[in-house]
Amino acid sequence: MSSAVPKVPITVAIGDGIGPEIMSQTLRVLEAAGAALAPEFIEVGEAVYRAGNSSGIGPEAWESLKRTRVLLKAPITTPLGGGYKSLNVTLRKTLGLYANVRPCRSLHPAVATRHPDLDVVIIRENEEDLYAGIEHQQTPDVVQCLKLVSRSGCEKIVRFAFEYARRHGRRRITCMTKDNIMKLTDGLFHRVFMEIGRQYPDIAQDHQIIDIGAARLADTPERYDVVVTMNLYGDIISDIVAQLTGSVGLAGSSNVGDQGALFEAIHGSAPDIAGQNIANPSGLLQAAVLMLGHLGQHEVAARIHNAWLCALEDGLHTADIYRAGTSRTKVSTTEFADAVIARLGRGPQQLAAMPALPVAAPPPSAIETPLYGKVPVEQQLVGVDVFLRWDGKRAATLGQELEALTGHRLQLKLITNRGVKVYPDGHPETFCTDHWRCRFVAADARIHGAQLDFTRVSFIDVLTLLHRLADCQLYVIKTEHLYLMDGARAFSLGQGE
Ligand code: NAD
Repeated sequence: MSSAVPKVPITVAIGDGIGPEIMSQTLRVLEAAGAALAPEFIEVGEAVYRAGNSSGIGPEAWESLKRTRVLLKAPITTPLGGGYKSLNVTLRKTLGLYANVRPCRSLHPAVATRHPDLDVVIIRENEEDLYAGIEHQQTPDVVQCLKLVSRSGCEKIVRFAFEYARRHGRRRITCMTKDNIMKLTDGLFHRVFMEIGRQYPDIAQDHQIIDIGAARLADTPERYDVVVTMNLYGDIISDIVAQLTGSVGLAGSSNVGDQGALFEAIHGSAPDIAGQNIANPSGLLQAAVLMLGHLGQHEVAARIHNAWLCALEDGLHTADIYRAGTSRTKVSTTEFADAVIARLGRGPQQLAAMPALPVAAPPPSAIETPLYGKVPVEQQLVGVDVFLRWDGKRAATLGQELEALTGHRLQLKLITNRGVKVYPDGHPETFCTDHWRCRFVAADARIHGAQLDFTRVSFIDVLTLLHRLADCQLYVIKTEHLYLMDGARAFSLGQGE
């Protein structure tokens, strides 16, 4: 790269565990390849946590990030124990990095793998789902984690996945959810996938339930191309797929948003091998290659990627991928970086080389505007789930006590315990905790078989009910309102309701 190319400021975090070892070698390769970068170093992770900052990142680090909008980050260690928030989740959410992209490709025959034709990109929603980490202990027996999913969040990630597929010449997208059980949250993701998918007829698309989808991915990954999925599922299946290529140490990832991007290896800080100079720097190097592409430095990105392929083809392998018969020499972290640097300017013989050009720009999308917010939605309150802590055991006792509170606008419809109906007509065999969900709907709601015609109630009705429960010394933990959205039920039924 000529010295005339201005250096792009980037923020660099060297991380914990093996982080400093693999980052120093990655930076050496970047420099030797002529990447036009001006790194600003920040301290994040374990030391910052231990110094009393519960999010693992201080104000100066935020300053740098807001300036550069690009972070190359080595893995960090989140100390165990209460009170520490995951730095990765904080960074992704604060910077609005809604898309996590993890390309995984087998490097057969250079690296031993049972799946020589694997070439899968996992695109994972990065800000919502159970990963939002909103957890509460509600009773001595029961804790909860809130799974929040927004239509606007689903639209952003699904459209990103289709655009990514077009831009990278990918032919199929598989959406994975568990919407046979979580009909509202996972159901929304699946529905948005189908809605937006109609605007991309050039890309084959299907949906699989995550459990069988993950099993098939592990068994026959060559049948997949791009997978788009929710946050937690994406985290799990991307580790599985990376491991199938030979090692979790091989894959890099990008976290992309409208305001910035973060590039990192997909693995953690590997404290079991830290300080030994044996870790594989490939994951972070691949993350750096993705970063160079993001910054428009395609020629340097290709030079590093192709030298890396060349070193792997020459059988120079770190311990995690070293296999007698396939590998030639077991190398240390620094020796591997030396080998990549020595091969800059060369290309692989058998593996597919990376072109030194940007990927083709996508054709304009059929519809650029999001679907969310286009149609006004009528939201109608029709009842309330009141969650109680109650230390009794017989659901009928609680049910009868609550029935006695009727005569008011809201009346008890059912009680569930961990989602299963226990009143009326519960089964005495059902195990019950101290956490009871009591569903109240308007006294004049009409039941037609399994159908229920809800009628509108007011917030004052809910407050009056809560007042009556408190007067009876019942311990209210929380409430969830029951709504109709444009006349359609917008809450799940209890099992057995
Ligand atoms: P890990 O990914 O660090 O390690 C899992 C296994 O893979 C270990 O046996 C390790 O030695 C091996 N491994 C990982 N990277 C390797 C590499 N580059 N070369 C060779 N072998 C490699 O997962 P873990 O042990 O569950 O987590 C350790 C710590 O990392 C935890 O504190 C966790 O919170 C953190 N973590 C951080 C990130 C991140 O910063 N992005 C991601 C995941 C885990």
